[in-house]
Amino acid sequence: GPAPEADTEARQWLARHKGKFGHFINGTFVESVSGKTFDSFEPATGALLAKIALGGRDDVNAAVAAARKAQGPWAKLPGHARARHLYALARMVQRHARLIAVVEALDNGKPVRETRDIDIPLAARHFYHHAGWAQLQETEFADQVPVGVVGQVIPWNFPFLMLAWKVAPALALGNTVILKPAEFTPLTALLFAELASAAGLPPGVLNIVTGEGETGALIVEHEDIDKIAFTGSTEVGRLIREKTAGSGKSLTLELGGKSPFIVFDDADIDGAVEGVVDAIWFNQGQVCCAGSRLLVQEGVAPLFHERLARRMGTLRVGHPLDKAIDMAAIVAPVQLQRIEGMVAKGLAEGASLHQPKIELPKGGSFYPPTLLTNVQPTSVVASEEIFGPVAVSMTFRTPEEAIQLANHTRYGLAASVWSETIGLALHVAAKLAAGVVWVNATNLFDASSGFGGKRESGFGREGGKEGGYEYLKPKAWVGRKLRAES
Ligand code: NAD
Repeated sequence: GPAPEADTEARQWLARHKGKFGHFINGTFVESVSGKTFDSFEPATGALLAKIALGGRDDVNAAVAAARKAQGPWAKLPGHARARHLYALARMVQRHARLIAVVEALDNGKPVRETRDIDIPLAARHFYHHAGWAQLQETEFADQVPVGVVGQVIPWNFPFLMLAWKVAPALALGNTVILKPAEFTPLTALLFAELASAAGLPPGVLNIVTGEGETGALIVEHEDIDKIAFTGSTEVGRLIREKTAGSGKSLTLELGGKSPFIVFDDADIDGAVEGVVDAIWFNQGQVCCAGSRLLVQEGVAPLFHERLARRMGTLRVGHPLDKAIDMAAIVAPVQLQRIEGMVAKGLAEGASLHQPKIELPKGGSFYPPTLLTNVQPTSVVASEEIFGPVAVSMTFRTPEEAIQLANHTRYGLAASVWSETIGLALHVAAKLAAGVVWVNATNLFDASSGFGGKRESGFGREGGKEGGYEYLKPKAWVGRKLRAES
């Protein structure tokens, strides 16, 4: 059953806030000027988790004003001084890892084993990594200055990790931030704001404005914001690109995907089956770079599908706080309906359905691990992002056909290639249209390597030195150099 004492700590935190949260602006929690709120639910039970301030124009204005005021002094700090803040944030995340992991699991519905072992450690690592860049800013980015005030809008699938990917590089390199978490999952961002404040982060450097899509749009359109960094759907990304065009704002977009997972005849089959578990059932498949399109070479396809179906039957779906489960809840009823609708479309298009006979918990939003075979490459389920625990499988004969099928998508976020012939794997990897290609592996991330997409998966990179440049702009050196010479 659920871990009771971990639950208690999170419940105490919620109780301390009386189940009601304001925006974090200029170092303090404030209600919406309008007094409006929205509800955040627990996906695993459907119960109300907290009431959250609904951000309107006045709230966004206040957050931008605070960020603008703080930006000059923050950017003037020497890199090593900002590094100390980033190290302090990293340590704060580690010290409160358990609380953050549980709040995240409750708010998002994902297994606490994943938040504890993956999301939160990766987030802490992101702050450590970027503390390093802050320290090296004057030498490594000598010809660059901060972009300024940054608006950041993030999705619900990795709420805390996406916050880290956005906030760490921005702050490290001298920018100040207005961040809007997704409406389904605002809590860990607010918890982070509280921890950042306790760690001594100056007021105004980090502001959290909670709300729905309209709040995000107010941030995107605000005239005193210098850059927008967005992670979310391609649909909203496209809107944001239109709205920021010609505004002078810089923009990075991390959008959707339909990433291929290619299994060759000579692959280590058991390894590849475990790979699929990570690729599409990790986080209930709500992963932008999920290996959602299985491309299996004909010779091995029957055996591969049989082993995969058997492995699916051993996956346990349960409450997020139960550490013995593999999958937990879908983020919200509306997402569950979307997944059900997509699978129904796949079946109407002639696909075969494979779902293990496992019992799902009652009350919340749950969906079983699912495999669709006999899928046509042109079908809706093979081309559109399902964003749920649904793998679609197709077969191919030759490496060239695999490459062609893999690239037959409007997206280009990630790809995974499985073969024991390294020459073949690397030949194929080089031809895949994807921001990241994993060989005999999947869903690996590191703060030091830039992550991002091609095509309709967006542009810009997060992580590493390349990610740093997204929060900087070139400095006009010429005049200064001339002066120095004269
Ligand atoms: P979404 O686009 O619906 O929402 C993302 C965020 O944008 C939310 O905070 C939302 O409130 C806000 N928003 C909605 N409408 C807006 C508007 N008009 N203007 C400004 N902000 C607006 O996406 P989602 O459902 O939260 O997340 C799922 C999507 O995110 C998937 O497509 C997934 O692939 C993608 N994703 C991509 C990455 C990546 O790094 N490429 C990572 C995680 C998720």
